[in-house]
Amino acid sequence: MKDYDITLQEIKSRIKQFIKERDWEQFHSPKNISMSIAIEAAELMEHFQWLTIEQSKQLLKNKKKREEIEDELADIAIYIIDFCNLFNIDIGKSIVRKLDKSAKKYPVYLVKGKSHKYTYYRKLKS
Ligand SMILES: [Mg+2]
Repeated sequence: MKDYDITLQEIKSRIKQFIKERDWEQFHSPKNISMSIAIEAAELMEHFQWLTIEQSKQLLKNKKKREEIEDELADIAIYIIDFCNLFNIDIGKSIVRKLDKSAKKYPVYLVKGKSHKYTYYRKLKS
């Protein structure tokens, strides 16, 4: 599946414009935006609350529910990008750096097919 054809720069620009037009920068402190990310994540989780793993997968096959879930994912992404816009964070660079850190933390040979937290392997090593 190909993503909608829009660049990260265009998305950043659209979000920046949306916030600026409404004069909302004044409310978008790191505290408020980070709280908003968590609130939107809770709204996403609410869709899956009490479902089994299989039921949660099936839910995405329902067109209406799928769009609601996509909206929550978009809300989270919008707040993340808004945070980065307002506080000069290069999200592409941050993601790549974090993936590099995670690759070191979770070496394939130790974790492939396993879901243990990395500290489990640190304890095994020491
Ligand atoms: Mg929402």
